[in-house]
Amino acid sequence: MRICPPLIEKGNSDKICPRSASLTQESLDTCWMQYAVNLIASNTSNPFTSVIVNHEYNTLMCEGISYGENDPPGPYPGGSSPLYHGEISNLLNCSALYGPKCLNYSQMTMYSTGESCPMCISAQWWYGLSRNVYATSIQKLRCLGIAQLMMPDVVLMQYAEGSPPIEIVPDVLANITDPLFLRFSSLKALPAGWPASCQTPIVQGCSATSSPEPLP
Ligand SMILES: [Zn+2]
Repeated sequence: MRICPPLIEKGNSDKICPRSASLTQESLDTCWMQYAVNLIASNTSNPFTSVIVNHEYNTLMCEGISYGENDPPGPYPGGSSPLYHGEISNLLNCSALYGPKCLNYSQMTMYSTGESCPMCISAQWWYGLSRNVYATSIQKLRCLGIAQLMMPDVVLMQYAEGSPPIEIVPDVLANITDPLFLRFSSLKALPAGWPASCQTPIVQGCSATSSPEPLP
């Protein structure tokens, strides 16, 4: 029988994002996203950061930064890898801290400064997370010239079967993260018409090259 390590004391994160009867989930989402944004300062190579919070107990569980091939090596096999996006390293971090069967991931929310790519949102679904809150969308990241698989999380979740889809909460603090991703991109200025030009349909108006339509 597996012995689970002691978890972080339930509710201890109220010091970071205080919870009160009058505070809405929307306010908590904003606070936790700000916490994820603050991690960018410790990950100077890029603005992709994330945190996992137990939303039942308002408890911070894990943090994640990316360890891509252009980033300093991290603590995972091989050090750096194109697989080590912020959300993947975050999930690996949670597994290392708590073990594979010691957390109820259906109580977990992933806060990600950039909308999770199909690999990362799929990984969250396989873990069983129930919520995902993101700031800058895939559409906007692509508008900024950052390579993307143009599949919005909310669309991919329509294909979930046998396990509940993840609830997707978009655009939380995007006004803060959009300029950070612009600085990270090779562009000198925001694309014309930003951000309206970067809303659905995907990347229309952002590029002369055509992009595939999202699946229905
Ligand atoms: Zn990813």
